[in-house]
Amino acid sequence: MWLRVLAMAAAALAAPREQICGYDKCPAGKQDMLNVHLVPHTHDDVGWLKTVDQYFYGAKSEIQRAGVQYILDSVIQELVKDPEKRFIYVETAFFWRWYLQQDEQTIATVENLVNEGRLEFIGGGWSMNDEACVHYNAVIDQMSLGMRTLFDHFGPCGIPRVAWQIDPFGHTKEQANMFAQMGFDGYFFGRLDYDDKKRRMNASEMEMVWLASQDLGETGEIFTGALYNIYAPPPGHCYDVNCNDQPIMDDKRLKDYNVDEKVDDFIAYSKKQAKSFKTNHIVMTMGEDFHYQDAGMWFKNMDKLIKYVNARQSGGEKVNVFYSTPSCYLKSLHDAKLVWPTVEDDFMPYASDPWAYWSGYFTSRPAQKGYIRKSNNFLQVCKQLTAMMQTERTYETPNRVDYLRYAMGVNQHHDAVTGTEKQHVANDYIQRLSEATDSCQGAVNDALTRAGLPVQTFCNHLNTSVCHVTEQSGKFVAYVYNPLSRSVSPWVRIPVAGDAYTILDPEGQAVASQLSPIPAEVLSLPGRNSSAVAELVFQASDLPPLGFKGYFIQPAPGAATSQVSTERPGLQSLSNGHVTLDLDPETLRLGRVRAGKADIQINQTFMWYEGYGNASGSKWERPQRPTGAYIFNPKGEAQVIEAKSVVTLDGALVKEYRHTFDMDWVSQVTRLYKDEPFAEVEWMVGPIPTEDGVAKEVISRFSSAINSTDTFYTDSNGRQMMKRRRNHRDTWTLNVTEPVAGNYFPVNSRIFIKDADSQLTVLTDRSQGGSSLASGQLELMLHRRTVQDDAFGVGEPLNETEFGVGLVVRGRHWVVVSDPADAPKLHRDLAEQMFMAPQLSFAAADFMTPEMWSSAKVIKQFTGMQPLPANVHLLTLEMYKPNQLLIRLEHQFQADEDPTLSKPVDVNLKDLFTTLNVTSVEEFGLSADRPLKDINRLHWDHVQSNRLPKNFRGAAHEVYRSTGAEHDPLTVTLNPMEIRTFVASYQSPYPLPTPPAQPTE
Ligand SMILES: [Zn+2]
Repeated sequence: MWLRVLAMAAAALAAPREQICGYDKCPAGKQDMLNVHLVPHTHDDVGWLKTVDQYFYGAKSEIQRAGVQYILDSVIQELVKDPEKRFIYVETAFFWRWYLQQDEQTIATVENLVNEGRLEFIGGGWSMNDEACVHYNAVIDQMSLGMRTLFDHFGPCGIPRVAWQIDPFGHTKEQANMFAQMGFDGYFFGRLDYDDKKRRMNASEMEMVWLASQDLGETGEIFTGALYNIYAPPPGHCYDVNCNDQPIMDDKRLKDYNVDEKVDDFIAYSKKQAKSFKTNHIVMTMGEDFHYQDAGMWFKNMDKLIKYVNARQSGGEKVNVFYSTPSCYLKSLHDAKLVWPTVEDDFMPYASDPWAYWSGYFTSRPAQKGYIRKSNNFLQVCKQLTAMMQTERTYETPNRVDYLRYAMGVNQHHDAVTGTEKQHVANDYIQRLSEATDSCQGAVNDALTRAGLPVQTFCNHLNTSVCHVTEQSGKFVAYVYNPLSRSVSPWVRIPVAGDAYTILDPEGQAVASQLSPIPAEVLSLPGRNSSAVAELVFQASDLPPLGFKGYFIQPAPGAATSQVSTERPGLQSLSNGHVTLDLDPETLRLGRVRAGKADIQINQTFMWYEGYGNASGSKWERPQRPTGAYIFNPKGEAQVIEAKSVVTLDGALVKEYRHTFDMDWVSQVTRLYKDEPFAEVEWMVGPIPTEDGVAKEVISRFSSAINSTDTFYTDSNGRQMMKRRRNHRDTWTLNVTEPVAGNYFPVNSRIFIKDADSQLTVLTDRSQGGSSLASGQLELMLHRRTVQDDAFGVGEPLNETEFGVGLVVRGRHWVVVSDPADAPKLHRDLAEQMFMAPQLSFAAADFMTPEMWSSAKVIKQFTGMQPLPANVHLLTLEMYKPNQLLIRLEHQFQADEDPTLSKPVDVNLKDLFTTLNVTSVEEFGLSADRPLKDINRLHWDHVQSNRLPKNFRGAAHEVYRSTGAEHDPLTVTLNPMEIRTFVASYQSPYPLPTPPAQPTE
């Protein structure tokens, strides 16, 4: 329906109007004056205190007076009245929803405003994504979704030029790098450590060039500015219906006449602000959360402010105020032709005062964080399969895949994946993901049916070892799909109710398997409804890239009881041929790990921090601010949770330690799979008791003999590794007020410590906070439950419950001990396997016999592509537009990580996919909205310009491209850490679904 509306609107606009937008529309300012750019803006969270729907419609005013539809209605009316007025809009999830509801007259008006640069898109992602808890795969998807929506509809005037992260609670290097690859000219944010900000203000270093990738050189650089007042207007100048500041009263007869006072105040503030910046231009963010529902109030007062401040110029005042946008402010900085300072580390963690380190949200709502990561995994599966089998209804928007794109876009928001939203909003986010997953499962089912499989059932409760189809079917087939572009052999765990099974692989050969009893703690999980008593464990060997294998599984009553894991008495060593684990007889905990040449004492245990806060909600002083959804504020050192018992379960395929603890709400399984280079530690925490009124933050700590001194490493959004030092920041002197919380950093996929001989790496299945608080130590925060709001706005303690008790969370760590030289190739490979895990689906097969399974007629496996080299990751394969694919290829290694795998590598796209014959490609920017050749970013000189080593990628012409790539347009060279994005034309034996016939009018 809306397609037709848009088509009509486009027809109404047939008379071409000149497009003057972006930098061409910028006010010049006055050379000898302080130029103040007033940026009218609204910060519209896609969910926080209210759900995204409630915010859009303005429902639940008793929670917050905020309605996005009214904001856009009101702003458009004001912009139409006066061509001088400007407005920016940021969150495409809201804008696009509103736009699709407009009549053709309004659509035409909005298009004009965009084409004339009066309404400008800034940021442009589906949401303003968080940075600490997000994985780069999901960030790229959500930014692409928003930016493509804007570009496809508005063309060049719809391109956001400036990245705008005004509210996220700290900023990562990889996010800045991704913004650079997306073609942004500059990047502004609001929040940085209070002490760093003070120093930067004194040194006029609020604005800088972020050298955001040592591997990519200039391509990874982005001009970055910290905003003076986060994103708020100057004090006393908030003119929104939600503010209490006085309007400008300019009738001199009134005793309330306040023009002189308002103007004096504004000029003084402007001059003070200007002292922290290098040029004679400053930006003032004129707006706040959900402002401009009555846009006339803001604009009327800003009109007066502009008029009366500029009127002082005739008296010699050198302040010049005008309506502007972030891109116009950026342009004025660029025009200043300065040499800017640089930054190479990141802005994590964020502290708003000496006792408020925002490092709690790195872990807050761990189940939600885990589900979001899992949903990213499934979205990639869904996109790949629907593209390979050509089943996505690309003529429909939204189609079944889009729902999951939208839900994931919203879930990356800085009050979603962060866990800093109200409980009812968190529930809404999860419901969105769940419903969108159902939708994508429908699309995947169509794709697999086209590949020849029967209708599939998906098991969405494997995290509690529940799967009704496998528990209840006699015989069934398990299909294991591998979304990676290389062959892998993952371990599959299927909940079952029987006591013996046989498994046949696609060749009809028996597959070794083991029945692993489900731990008692899992069986008694609140709300668990299942007859499964064991997990059937087997290795799905050599799964083809982007392909699946089917496994026929049938009960074998009375057969091999040796299949069941055997309990061994006493303290046993576990060994799988690569890794050997020993227990510490004193503590019963893990005590020693041997792997290859590495042999280290490692003690692992659960601990908990007591957080500040009082369940009675009593008053507090600043250092005792309650630990909460945002901040981590422990009272002191962590307390040990002692191991109570350990049982060893032995078997040919998997060997386990099962630990219980003196606090019975914590348990753990440590397992070694045959021949794998890691130990899997499956932790389960909850319900965390808070009946005693005490907030608790639960960690897993590894203490080792590794001489790591004060140094440890954490990943940046799952890509680059960041070197961290305890009690230290690279660019400023840290005043240590919070020795624990101030040393916590975001861990999205891995954390490690090392010395000359050994490295201990822990990979995570979700984002968590992590640190190293002593040499040889490494810890990750798993779960938290608090008793009092931390007073940063959410208004609730972080107190997740389900089934009437505190929420229980189960997750995994992969622990790798190795020679440091071998570590990168291990952790790069394993991290990829963790976030792009195989997808299981099932079909009951009651009438299947082994003979039928072995017959040639049954489809049992499928290979989607030729394997890519070990250092290349197929980041994206999806339908782009009808008859076009979107393909992203990524070099997985940093330049200095591995002598072989860090080298540049070629990939040939011809004959790469089995059902998609790529015939031509065009390279696009990372956000896939426009061709790379159309991206010309502003160049910024900085203090390190031209000082980068030669082998670093510089300007486009310096990029290393192999001779093959120079001669063959389908050969692609990837340099270390490079992601390249292509839109491909292709042929396929499968026809796309045809659109339904148009009704004749
Ligand atoms: Zn926000």
